[in-house]
Amino acid sequence: MAKVDTDIKTDLEKLELDKLQESILSELLDICHENLDETDDEFVRKAFKLCYLSHQGVKRASGEAYFLHPVEVAKIMAEDFNIDDESVVAALLHDTVEDTNVTLNDIRNLFGDTVAHLIDGVTKITGFFDNRDSKQAETFMKLLLSMAEDIRVVLIKFADRLHNMRTINHLPRQKQLKKATETLELYAPLAHRFGLFNIKNEFEDLCFKVIDPNSFKFIARKLREKKESREEFIDKFMEPVEKQLEEYNFNFEIKGRPKHIYSIYRKMQSQQKPFEEIYDLFAIRIILENPHTKEDCWRVYSIITDWYTPIPKRFRDFISVPKANGYQSLHTTVITKTGRKVEVQIRTRKMDNIAEQGLAAHWKYKEGESGGSSELDKFVHWVRDVLDNPRPDAATEFVKDFQLNLYQDEIYVFTPDGELKTLPNGASCIDFAFEIHSEIGERAVASKVNGKMVPLRTKLKSGDQVEIITGNKINLNPDWMEDVVTHKAKARLRQFIKQKERKVADEGREIWEKRAKKGKIAISDQELTRIAQKFQFDAAQDMFFEIGSGAFEVDKLFEVVKQFKSKGRIDDKQDDYKSRTEEEIQKEYITTARSVGDDKALVVEGELSNVKYSYANCCNPIPGDNVIGFISRNGDVKIHRSNCKNAHHLIKTDSERIVDVSWAKNIDTQFLGAVRVIGEDRVGLVNDLTEILSKSMQTNMKSINVTSEGGMFEGILTLYINDLAHLEKIINRLERVEGIKNVTRYE
Ligand code: MN
Repeated sequence: MAKVDTDIKTDLEKLELDKLQESILSELLDICHENLDETDDEFVRKAFKLCYLSHQGVKRASGEAYFLHPVEVAKIMAEDFNIDDESVVAALLHDTVEDTNVTLNDIRNLFGDTVAHLIDGVTKITGFFDNRDSKQAETFMKLLLSMAEDIRVVLIKFADRLHNMRTINHLPRQKQLKKATETLELYAPLAHRFGLFNIKNEFEDLCFKVIDPNSFKFIARKLREKKESREEFIDKFMEPVEKQLEEYNFNFEIKGRPKHIYSIYRKMQSQQKPFEEIYDLFAIRIILENPHTKEDCWRVYSIITDWYTPIPKRFRDFISVPKANGYQSLHTTVITKTGRKVEVQIRTRKMDNIAEQGLAAHWKYKEGESGGSSELDKFVHWVRDVLDNPRPDAATEFVKDFQLNLYQDEIYVFTPDGELKTLPNGASCIDFAFEIHSEIGERAVASKVNGKMVPLRTKLKSGDQVEIITGNKINLNPDWMEDVVTHKAKARLRQFIKQKERKVADEGREIWEKRAKKGKIAISDQELTRIAQKFQFDAAQDMFFEIGSGAFEVDKLFEVVKQFKSKGRIDDKQDDYKSRTEEEIQKEYITTARSVGDDKALVVEGELSNVKYSYANCCNPIPGDNVIGFISRNGDVKIHRSNCKNAHHLIKTDSERIVDVSWAKNIDTQFLGAVRVIGEDRVGLVNDLTEILSKSMQTNMKSINVTSEGGMFEGILTLYINDLAHLEKIINRLERVEGIKNVTRYE
């Protein structure tokens, strides 16, 4: 155990609580005993002591000792969420890791993994609450849920904010407004989605009081004034019903006073009606105590409608068909003899708990949203189960087991400005770049995640802040196809690969046209297509692609065209290249190749030893690269890197001409290899790069090509390379040069 822990342990043991502290602690313990199934008093006492010790000497804006804040948060945890003593302990210590010198390790050693996990979660999500764009509450909530893992973490955060809002009047006006707006836009909707309606209502009223104190006071005063007449009306309305319910031995509670000021205000605003009209829409709730059942709700309904006429259109049966979030209740609207409409809601105590303050929170389940995850199904099932078979410990058990992994198919990441973006799970920086803008995706050269340079293909996770560094021109890489999951990125890359192939084909056509001009031959496109087909190409374009990529010799085509022009037909023996067997092709190559085999850098496998070969200049392979050989039509073997796109194309169209090749053990030759260096432009950068290469890397440079724009520097360095390891060393070294952001192999 670390030294600091022992110190804290001794300090805790030595600490004697004074009378006042003892009374504060015993008040908290009373609340725990009242609301929790089980409370380990010593566990809570130890946390209380650490809470006091670690915040000792610190005061809140109100002037009172800081430690009273976590104590109040712990009370809310016990009273409003009544889950377990671990969450009470975590609430007591929720500010320690962030604000004091107590570490997460100390917490783990003193209070165990669960409490440490909870506090870590609270600390983490607190960071995300700060300075976020609160307009994206919905996405934000998903982020929160995907990060929090344990629902208790979110509840502690709610309790924390609730207490801060209750004591907000000690803060300066500016801060009050900021906190109130944030709470109204973020915490209140979150609480609503969690089904924590009481908490949500309190959040809203506390915020409303800060943001629009005059309207708040006005409605509050009106409510006070009207209280008496309203209660009188409700009493009169309920009198005959109550009498009868008592006769039938119903055990019930009647709720009729609206306490939520903000919702009255909002209705006044949205319906453009004065207070009286909104307020006079009465809603009465009849709650049947345990062990009343749903059948009893129907009996109450029948009693009410014996006395008052129901409006059939306004009848809702959420008991037989609960809302997706598990909400159950009977709703009916009746008319009194004086013509007033009264909405009556009938439900059992259990249903009321779930609806008001329970975890009836549906998290994802929302009408219109597609499907539900199995976790969510489990949750809804649980809500029903609790409603049907009341068991005091069911809630606790469930909350302990329930992991908030509802959103694992999506991740939520931030732009540098703090804007939230939703991406599918598995998305990389490249996907993110395309999500921002297709131009950003096309020009991305490097990326930073949480302030650190990372390769563009890096996979993102929820909560990452991502910055894309773009270059001055299109920088797409066909290899990225493996690293993207979004449709946007895939579509653009596909288009790019097509374009690139077209470009190679255009180059091939140019090569052909030059050759034809030199040989003074003219041929129509139609005739060329016929000849290409004789060579088993689907179209002339495919033939040009192979010429462009060096796989098909232009002279071969020229010979055949010449023959065609003079004879008016193509000699079958000549053109039937592709139909020959592999063996035949190999035999011919072996004879042609043996005479020229020289370089010992490569071993071509099988019978094809000592063949003539050359390196494809599309991918410039160097020793150490995985390579394949491609038998070209003129008899030699072209060596491609096995991940080269041209090679892939050839594998797909001409797999019988692929041969295995491997590098020889000892190679003296040097190869040309290029690296691309991206960084912030500065005076002397090129000098630094060349010096490092020649002096510390003993590497010769063939050429350097530098462009610079908008403070960004891009250099293509063509170097003499021994092998892959050498190239990797160079890349690693150059990456450490001041201002350099990204060094990659360049093809
Ligand atoms: Mn706090």
